[in-house]
Amino acid sequence: MEYETLAVHAGLPEDPHGALGLPIHAVAAYGFKTLEEGTERFATGEGYVYARQKDPTGKALEERLRALEGADYAVAFASGQAATFAALLALLRQGDEVVAAQGLFGQTIGLFGQVLGLMGVRVHYVDPEPDRVREALSASTRAIFVETMANPALLVPDLEGLAALAEERGVALIVDNTFGAAGALCQPLRWGAHGVVQSLTKWASGHGSVLGGAVLSRDTALWARYPQFLEKDPRGQVPWEALGGRCYPERVRTLGLSLLGMALSPFHAYLLFQGLETVALRVRRMSETAAFLAERLWGHPKVKDLRYPGLPEDPAHERARRYLAHFGPVLTLDLGSQEAASRFLRAIPLPKAANLGDARTLLVHPWTTTHSRLPEEGRLRAGVTPGLVRVSVGLEAPGDLLGMFLEALESM
Ligand SMILES: *Cc1c(COP(=O)(O)O)cnc(C)c1O
Repeated sequence: MEYETLAVHAGLPEDPHGALGLPIHAVAAYGFKTLEEGTERFATGEGYVYARQKDPTGKALEERLRALEGADYAVAFASGQAATFAALLALLRQGDEVVAAQGLFGQTIGLFGQVLGLMGVRVHYVDPEPDRVREALSASTRAIFVETMANPALLVPDLEGLAALAEERGVALIVDNTFGAAGALCQPLRWGAHGVVQSLTKWASGHGSVLGGAVLSRDTALWARYPQFLEKDPRGQVPWEALGGRCYPERVRTLGLSLLGMALSPFHAYLLFQGLETVALRVRRMSETAAFLAERLWGHPKVKDLRYPGLPEDPAHERARRYLAHFGPVLTLDLGSQEAASRFLRAIPLPKAANLGDARTLLVHPWTTTHSRLPEEGRLRAGVTPGLVRVSVGLEAPGDLLGMFLEALESM
């Protein structure tokens, strides 16, 4: 079935009352009638015990996400940050290394440096072209980490090239698919990624109303290359032998949810489940509006540079055509200087916020906000210049948006 069909049907549980929507299980613990039933649930991990680990509302969301990302397994988290941490924690040990794309989301860089650093894990940042990544791999590398579309540079990596390299070297390719909009724009697992993390806060939620995240994965024999899946776990079983490809998501769930408690609330799972019903419609419309704005603003005398992967001359155009269903809801304008960006942001009557995927168009000045903690060379390497404005296009009428942009540019 196609995405739009799965988006409204997948994961909806059968309800004893015939409810045609997702019931919210506002419940912490799930009871068992007998000692034997309790024993069974603890031994097998089937069924529900305590909502920190698993609950029916979150389970429905996981089922829907699994279908939409073309994944075999899904684990939902309280935020994108929590998902990224758990996805990597399940693969890493002290002294291991990660090779990551330069220009990642700022808080991901913070997580890698300040939290993985505490575990003695080193992260090497490179231009994510397969040749560069190959040079950075060592015998200790356990993961390659890239984003579907680096932000705000809006560049797309060679997913197939990276997946082939990862297979060859026995290292997991993990893709932050937040820009893939829950699979509506991109499904990295289908291009060979072993795992996907995403922030559901952005396009999946769609209304800027809730935080959430997920780790998705597929069945792969790659996990048999990791010592954590070949050694006996505290239950006395060898995860790879007992669970096959499920050993990875189970470790993600155990470490990230049971032990660290980064669990998604059932109320938020409900909102995200609903958001997914319209994500394909929204990102298609947002992509059309973004293309409309990019074409109309291209060459405007006040716009020094404009990046949108949908423009044939854009450096990301060919890769975006290959890997994305549409060219996406984000574009950037370089107005030449911080002063010009400041005048433009004052003049335009749209919200300025460090978020993405809201129903409203949101603008941000990455130089002084999202990327302000990076040194200047780091910012420039990430494609962030003092005049750059990032636009996350919303659902407003395209003509109204164009009017606001042109008026603000005129008044500068
Ligand atoms: C927002 C974002 C995250 C973090 O997600 P939260 O839900 O805010 O924790 C991770 N990666 C990317 C690319 C993001 O845009």
